[in-house]
Amino acid sequence: MEQHDLDTALGFTIPARDARGRIVRLGPVLDTILAAHAYPRAIEALLAEALTLAALIGSTLKDVGGQLTLQAQTQGGVVRLLVCDYKGGELRGYVDYDADRLAEGPDAPTLFALFGTGHLAITFDQATTGERYQGIVPLDGASLAEAAERYFVQSEQIPTLVRLGIARRADGSHIAGGLFLQHLPEGEDGRERLHTQLDHPEWEHVAALGATMGIDELAAPEIPLEVLVWRLFNEEDEVRVQPSTALSRGCRCSPDYIAQVLAKFPADEQAAMADESGMIVVDCAFCARKFPVPVAIAAD
Ligand SMILES: [Zn+2]
Repeated sequence: MEQHDLDTALGFTIPARDARGRIVRLGPVLDTILAAHAYPRAIEALLAEALTLAALIGSTLKDVGGQLTLQAQTQGGVVRLLVCDYKGGELRGYVDYDADRLAEGPDAPTLFALFGTGHLAITFDQATTGERYQGIVPLDGASLAEAAERYFVQSEQIPTLVRLGIARRADGSHIAGGLFLQHLPEGEDGRERLHTQLDHPEWEHVAALGATMGIDELAAPEIPLEVLVWRLFNEEDEVRVQPSTALSRGCRCSPDYIAQVLAKFPADEQAAMADESGMIVVDCAFCARKFPVPVAIAAD
C-alpha cells in the first residue's frame, strides 16, 4: 500500500468563504517522539493529539523562525505537565505524569481525570520582532481540540474548528491526523478582529463540512491530504492549496546549554548530583538523550 503525506502539514484557503485551513498527518515523527519515553497508551494518545495540534497551529505561523508552544498546567490530575512546541517544521513534546494513579484509573481517562482543574497555555514567540503572545484557556471541555477552539474564539475572536485523532496500526506504529479551520473575514493579518460575527453563514457552512471529516480518513495514509481537502470542499468554486510543509522531530537540547545551566549551581550541590565517576548525567525531557557533564566543567 502506498503511503502519502506522513509527517506533512498542508495549508489551504477558501477565498469566497474567508476561510483558511491546515491538515496534518504525523507518522514516523510521532513514533520517534513517543519512543523517547515508555508511555502508557492513554498518555501516548494525549501526546499524539497535542503534537498534532501544535503542528496544525504552528504551521500557520508566517514568521518561519517563530515558535508555537502548547503547555498544559494541571492541578489534581494524573498529568503533571504536558509541553509541545513547533518551530520551523520541527516538533517536540513530552508528558510528565503519575504512573501509579494512571494505572488505577480506566483505560481511556477523561480530560478531567488527566488534567484535573487544568489550563492550556498557547504561546506564540515571534522571531522577527521578539514579541510574545500568550493566551490561557481552562481544560474543562471534552478534549484538547475543544480547548484549542475555545482559545481562538475567546483570545483572538477567530471562529475555529479543530479535529484531532490517532490510529494505532497492527505493527504498533501510530498515525495521527488533524484538521484546523478558521474564519478570517478581515484577512490573515491584523489581530484586531473586533467585529467578527460568530454566526457568519459563510463560516457555518465551512465548519459544518469540516465537522464531517473522519478521524479514520485523516489517519489513512492511502489517501493524500490534498484529496481529503478536495473531497471535503468539492462544491466550492475555489480552494487554493499551498505548498506542503515537511514535519520533523527536532530537539534543541545541547551539551553546551546543559553545562551552562549546571554551572549556575554551587559546587557542593553539583558534587551531590554527580555519580561515582564525577559526572552529572542530565536527561533531556523531550528526547531522552543523556548528557554526561563532568563536575569540573560544570563548575567553570
Ligand atoms: Zn532533547
